[in-house]
Amino acid sequence: MRPRTLNFHGIGTPAPAVDPGERPYWIDIDLFADVIENFPDWSHHRPLYITFDDGNLSDLEIAAPILAARGLSARFFVLTGRLEMPNYLSAKDVIELHKMGFSIGSHGHSHVDWSTLSPNGLVEELCQSRTRLSDILNCQIAEAAIPFGNYNRTVLRALKAAGYTTVWTSDGGGMDPNAFLRPRTSIKGDMSIETVRQILLSKPNPARELRRAIAKTRKRIF
Ligand SMILES: [Zn+2]
Repeated sequence: MRPRTLNFHGIGTPAPAVDPGERPYWIDIDLFADVIENFPDWSHHRPLYITFDDGNLSDLEIAAPILAARGLSARFFVLTGRLEMPNYLSAKDVIELHKMGFSIGSHGHSHVDWSTLSPNGLVEELCQSRTRLSDILNCQIAEAAIPFGNYNRTVLRALKAAGYTTVWTSDGGGMDPNAFLRPRTSIKGDMSIETVRQILLSKPNPARELRRAIAKTRKRIF
């Protein structure tokens, strides 16, 4: 079966300042622990990848130790505009995650919909965040995750021009682990462990795969 990627955001209880639009993507620690507990078993059925968006402090305080205890790798996509803010990662935390062996990528600077930005705005979001992370870690940043999963042809061109080699979307479904664009499935707070299992282990549904392929092609063309 084709690999799939689980995308997480915050784990635990979101702080009062967290945007209402982001709250549904926060999940209980118990659900996260359950998913990770089942992960080795599910991975026997299909290759699975793990990513995190937004750079919440729970990446380091909750997720990283649980992943490390199981020897699992993950990618953390950080919003550089939120570094050092309360309840978000600091530059020091990003270094810590990197030292633990996790991969760090860019989620942009200020969590805006890239498909609505001007060419200059895009350069700012994509290049500024990349440079900041490169400076913090003293290494090249090759991967990005698109905020809200919203992209179009202009966004993809700007990502390539900025030098990213791998870009993670939220299109769902199976992925080619060598492709430039890699779809992910976001885990939400109202999902049960059974729902997650079904999403990850379900056989491809031809009608759904076709709808996804059409939607993705549209985003690439327009
Ligand atoms: Zn995000």
